[in-house]
Amino acid sequence: MKYLIKILAVSSILLVVSAEAKNVILFVGDGMGVSTITAARIYVGQQRGSSGEEHDLSFDRFESVALVKTYNTDAQVPDSAGTITAMLAGAKTRRGVLGISQAAARDDCAASLQNEIPSILELAEERGKSSGVVSTARITHATPAGAYSHVPNRDWENSTMVTSENEAAGCRDIALQLLESPHGDGPDVILGGGRAQFMPSDMADPEYPEKKGLRDDGRDLIQEWLKRGPNREYVWNSASFDAIGADHTGQIMGLFEPSHMQFEADRENDAGGEPSLAAMTEIAIDRLSQNTSGYFLLVEGGRIDHAHHFGNAYRALVDTQALDDAVAVAVAKTNPDETLIVVTADHSHTLTISGYPPRGNPILGKVDQSMSPVLPGVEVLPYTTLGYANGPGYATPYPDISDVDTTDPNYRQIAAVPLPIETHAGEDVAAFATGVNADAMRGVIEQSELFQIMMDALFADEGD
Ligand SMILES: [Zn+2]
Repeated sequence: MKYLIKILAVSSILLVVSAEAKNVILFVGDGMGVSTITAARIYVGQQRGSSGEEHDLSFDRFESVALVKTYNTDAQVPDSAGTITAMLAGAKTRRGVLGISQAAARDDCAASLQNEIPSILELAEERGKSSGVVSTARITHATPAGAYSHVPNRDWENSTMVTSENEAAGCRDIALQLLESPHGDGPDVILGGGRAQFMPSDMADPEYPEKKGLRDDGRDLIQEWLKRGPNREYVWNSASFDAIGADHTGQIMGLFEPSHMQFEADRENDAGGEPSLAAMTEIAIDRLSQNTSGYFLLVEGGRIDHAHHFGNAYRALVDTQALDDAVAVAVAKTNPDETLIVVTADHSHTLTISGYPPRGNPILGKVDQSMSPVLPGVEVLPYTTLGYANGPGYATPYPDISDVDTTDPNYRQIAAVPLPIETHAGEDVAAFATGVNADAMRGVIEQSELFQIMMDALFADEGD
């Protein structure tokens, strides 16, 4: 009898513990393949005065890691829309579509309306949790839009992109879907770029008066958003962002550029000033953790991908460093007993780390030719440790870069195949996890399995 009481006492304590709020924070480094992580790790370590290779990024020591298969249902090498849908809605789908199953073809409005699949953010909102979307890309760009929109084409970011025929059929642009989210009270924290997608075409941008909004329906979605709920706050530069108190209780929208936010490497030169990804993550967690029922937060390092597309490893590594800083903030501000933090990528890029540079060689530097194997009769010219399989860095004949400073921020690494834009790559990406349900993150998994791992953590005490 005494024993039974003891068990009951223990189980009631367990009940109390498991009734704690459960939160999930998903960090997506857009295009942050494993080679990018390794190169960024060396870069950050070297910035801090070590040889670099032994450095640990904030998520390198997470207790669990899996390899993730990223293909789309119709693509061996995926895009960001199909991959974020897999992660957030639990089903692999076609490239280029958001929040709809593969049963609907790209651009097919009518079919898309019949095949919407809910995202974890929407499910969290419906069950009384709070939610947030943070990105350095346009908030209507594929990865953040995957949290709250359902479109058969990721390019439908504003009203001009949706034909009147599709509009009559019931399809809505991505910015409008963010405003009109029917799930809970919609995302509570929205921080990123892309304000032109929300502004009418006759309205001048506050930071660049020569630029105008993009909407052809005459609507000012920022003002509409402010009026749709109580105590909402909109900010667009670092001064107004810094003025948001940590105790602010209303919903927050911050749109810091007409299009994407600056690369981290260029952020300090921005006219209106922009917060860092870490600062945005911090205020998002402060705001969302006010809900005792917990929250889902998506944080995207959206421009790692863009720098790679430009063949510019420097900016990709600095943006990866910014994501690393943001993850460190999340780890410091959350309790692992009630929070799952996942750090992953949607897809990889063609970045390679090659040659035989010695330990501590600058990661943006060149490989010592004497360390390279030699083809008979072929002179080995200097080459950079970092290179791309394709992209704008292609040059013929192969250039002699002996006197080129490859650590210059604007240097484009040499690419093997000439393309105007470097492409994504199709090998697996890594997913690191810490906290609630982190031990489910192991093995080689389909990208859509990330959804269930996060759902199990988010609703751990609801028995589903
Ligand atoms: Zn891309």
